[in-house]
Amino acid sequence: MINYQAPYRGKYKISCPFGKKGSWAAGWHIGNDLVGLESKDIYAIGEGRVTSINAHGKAYGNHLTVLHPDGKESLYAHLSVIKVKKGQRVTKNTLLGIEGATGNVNGRHLHIEVHEGGWRYPPKNSTPQDCKWLLDIRKLLLEGENMDKKEIPQWQKEACKMVCETKSFTNADDWLKKVENAEIPTWGEIFGVLAKCL
Ligand SMILES: [Zn+2]
Repeated sequence: MINYQAPYRGKYKISCPFGKKGSWAAGWHIGNDLVGLESKDIYAIGEGRVTSINAHGKAYGNHLTVLHPDGKESLYAHLSVIKVKKGQRVTKNTLLGIEGATGNVNGRHLHIEVHEGGWRYPPKNSTPQDCKWLLDIRKLLLEGENMDKKEIPQWQKEACKMVCETKSFTNADDWLKKVENAEIPTWGEIFGVLAKCL
């Protein structure tokens, strides 16, 4: 199993989360939109090989895909510049490109997708539950951190605290337990708060 990293080296925020319903062709947002707050440099989320450049339609703007050894394929869209070539081997230290606003966008951001077993666009009006091959990168990143440290990462504890304060929850310890046990409904809340605070 690969330990994935965030595509940014500095802080970033999530401007549109995976799974959000809307006017996309699938009927929902099949990736995450991230905005770099300290740097626009985009790195590979894991080692692998560049499998395509600008092969998945104009809406993505300048985009590329990387196939990782575990069979997952990551896609990086709306780049202003692409710094790699098709077929190139990449590591976590490979600069793939620079965040931009090319393609179908309202402002600069990175749209990132992760597909299990290679890129494929979901059927029209499907749901995230119908398309288990599409992964939420936020969960991959959390798995990686938890695997490394065997404890709840500090930023996540702080996010819990912020959520508890925002929502006036009185029992922060119970809530932290929920996060530790990875109960799905808590992720959206954490990231909703993080997106405002990061
Ligand atoms: Zn997007």
